[in-house]
Amino acid sequence: MSQTDGQKIVAIPGPSPVPDRVLRAAHRPSPDIYGDELAAINLDLLARLKWLAGTSAGHVVPYIGNGHAGWEAVNNNLFQRGDRVLLLVSGFFGRHWGDLMTAQGLDVQRLEFGPAAPDPARLAEALAADRDRRIRAVMVCHIDTASSVQADIPAIRAAMTDHPALLVVDAIASLGCAPMQMDDWGVDVLISASQKGLMCPPGTCFLWASQRAAAQPATDWTTPYWDWRGRIKAQALWEYWGGTPPVQQIFALSEALSMMQEDGLEAIYARHDRQARAVWTAFEGWGAKNPAITLMVTQPRARARSVTGVHFPGADALRSWLSTQSGVTIGIGLGAEDPTNALRLAHMGYCGDATILAVLGAIQAGMRALSIPHDRDGLDQATACFANPAQT
Ligand SMILES: *Cc1c(COP(=O)(O)O)cnc(C)c1O
Repeated sequence: MSQTDGQKIVAIPGPSPVPDRVLRAAHRPSPDIYGDELAAINLDLLARLKWLAGTSAGHVVPYIGNGHAGWEAVNNNLFQRGDRVLLLVSGFFGRHWGDLMTAQGLDVQRLEFGPAAPDPARLAEALAADRDRRIRAVMVCHIDTASSVQADIPAIRAAMTDHPALLVVDAIASLGCAPMQMDDWGVDVLISASQKGLMCPPGTCFLWASQRAAAQPATDWTTPYWDWRGRIKAQALWEYWGGTPPVQQIFALSEALSMMQEDGLEAIYARHDRQARAVWTAFEGWGAKNPAITLMVTQPRARARSVTGVHFPGADALRSWLSTQSGVTIGIGLGAEDPTNALRLAHMGYCGDATILAVLGAIQAGMRALSIPHDRDGLDQATACFANPAQT
């Protein structure tokens, strides 16, 4: 066998690793889609997706599609040509979302925050200036997967005070990794997809709609397939999914949600928090002897718990060393100013502490092999996050 044989580690921010249990659950022939068993599994799955998002009052609506499909489903249900939305941008994903909404015909007003969390004071200012209440929605990525910024959703909601805009949150890279309390936080529409924190193959996406969002009238853009109104009042299985249900995805998602229930959300969020801190500690430690190695997000409060972006001179060389010499794949510097010298490390979904230790160990080996200056203490400091999690 070669040195890169054995279980490979793919630490890119989506699709994330799929547990064997989930793969096995999906490895089943399709049953009768008109039978009771699948209908019951589907209902149970939707109920558990509401639990995961922290909503009992809202609705969850499933679609076959990726995250981009979820983005467009929101537009098609809530907006029409020329509607104004206020987009809070902290990285490439927010920017790209805005470009697509503009291309579809929305009037997108942007507030740019760079690789930092949206500032509630600037949001409040923008909404106060909207005297004729034209802004229909405030839209934000909970975690921008490119910059690795995590937004403070309750602070954003608080800044909206009595403005009637809906709050639309892209939780594609955060759901299942960082807390989400849709009802308590006053989120009107939440978007997520199967292949990141939900530990499943790509292929399904979900919208959660508050009572207020669900009560919005259909628009000129609303077409029968994407209309969430039909799916919200669905009775038959095919009505939930707008046609043939993605049977094996339903099996996979159902198993993934069982794993999450067994672990408990508190333990899952604590694990992601510990792993994220270990990754930050390692890069900050290595950077002590190479000031060009810096985390993209300076404020610890604004750092994502599912992915970490790093300015890293020699990232391209390191990436290729890791994949050819150690069987580890890390993320590209998507949307970075200098992508060849930027990397992203995913710690989302099905990721154990040993995986993070292996990736960090491989990175330090790669830096030695490539003579990239670093402080060797970085790895040692990162191990402390696992040895004494309470102190980090
Ligand atoms: C991955 C991602 C998307 C896009 O999802 P696709 O499944 O690739 O279409 C959108 N927003 C965020 C925050 C993401 O992480």
